[in-house]
Amino acid sequence: MQTAQQHAQALLQYIDASPSPWHAVHTSEKMLNNKGFIELLEGDAWSLKQSGRYYVKRDDSSIIAFTTGTNDLAQEGFRLIGAHTDSPGLRVKPKPDQQQNGINRLGVEVYGGPILATFTDRDLSLAGRIHIEQNGSFISKLVRFKKPFLRLPNLAIHMNSKVNTDGLKLNKQTELPLLLSVDHKQTSLADLLATELSIDATAIIAWELHAYDTQAGALYGLNDEFYANSQLDNLASCHAGLSALLSDQSLNSQQFNVCAFFDHEEIGSNSHKGADGSFLPDVLERISSSLNLSAESYKRTLSNSFMISADMAHAYQPNFPNAYEPDHKVFVNQGPVIKVNANIRYASNSASQARFIQLCDQSNVPYQQYSHRTDIGCGSTIGPMTSAQLGIQTVDVGCPMWAMHSIRESAGVIDHDYMTRVFTQFFS
Ligand SMILES: [Zn+2]
Repeated sequence: MQTAQQHAQALLQYIDASPSPWHAVHTSEKMLNNKGFIELLEGDAWSLKQSGRYYVKRDDSSIIAFTTGTNDLAQEGFRLIGAHTDSPGLRVKPKPDQQQNGINRLGVEVYGGPILATFTDRDLSLAGRIHIEQNGSFISKLVRFKKPFLRLPNLAIHMNSKVNTDGLKLNKQTELPLLLSVDHKQTSLADLLATELSIDATAIIAWELHAYDTQAGALYGLNDEFYANSQLDNLASCHAGLSALLSDQSLNSQQFNVCAFFDHEEIGSNSHKGADGSFLPDVLERISSSLNLSAESYKRTLSNSFMISADMAHAYQPNFPNAYEPDHKVFVNQGPVIKVNANIRYASNSASQARFIQLCDQSNVPYQQYSHRTDIGCGSTIGPMTSAQLGIQTVDVGCPMWAMHSIRESAGVIDHDYMTRVFTQFFS
């Protein structure tokens, strides 16, 4: 049995190996392959067997992994854990090379809602995927520069004297390009990619590249009770779900356990591989038809299914007491958070909360309940849209964390272990 700190270290390694959504899926895929999961292609015909282990990817940054048990599927339903693979940040534009006064910069676009100020003065690099032409067809390649060659330097306080009172404001068009080099001959990104991948620059057709922080994850706190890294929202939930799916309890169970991790949550999920798209309905329906269930049995299956939508929650930060609903503060290292919102920004209802609380009790894990301040807008998750699309009873939960959407987020070591234990109970 792993200790909570070992489990948190495993999470940090998972995140360090996953600097972009494409890498997160690739890292997950390696863990699945190690446990004998078989890849299914959406373009192939499927013939699934009972007691099987499978996964499907859509466009390499969303993935659904599942086990087929021996239970009566229509009667027992699927047990699902949903999360997302993407994090907000900076994405490289299609024509990014900029040169002015002998300084080369890279043009970027804002993806989702990052805390932009936290991207300044960090040792940044690039990761993602590119498409290249090879023998008349196009292939996709993962790319990750290890070297921290990019930076967004702050303006000195002498030129921005109100920064500590007014906050750091960055113009998204003019003040975000990343500094690359000082060199009178222009360094093009295509050339850098070509060198990195040992290919010809003319073969590069297009890219999707994400600026990532090269600093590795770390435990901190007097007793190493906290951990910090980029992308905790929401790779921590992916890792907890995957750890549960790959546990002996889950692999030996007779249930149909499903982990569904989607790209594009941070920009609204409305894409062909997002949680509001057809990926999950398509896969569940194909599992059902491949096992010869009738159309009616498939609808029975959905009705008997349950989904845990896992995304991070806002832990109380004592320096900012007024940001929180005073009666619903949730604390780091005090257990998974059940998120509730009357306007269904979170999918939880009393029935789904009761089921999750029962799972916590069964696994000897404490839980907390969160409600956002009524006078400020509440975020959302993939929970409400997947449950609306499929009609599946859903609860929204997450580990409490600080600084959501900072490039360096942090959370509690024990909470990750708690959450994994509850998920494992669900899949057992
Ligand atoms: Zn999230």
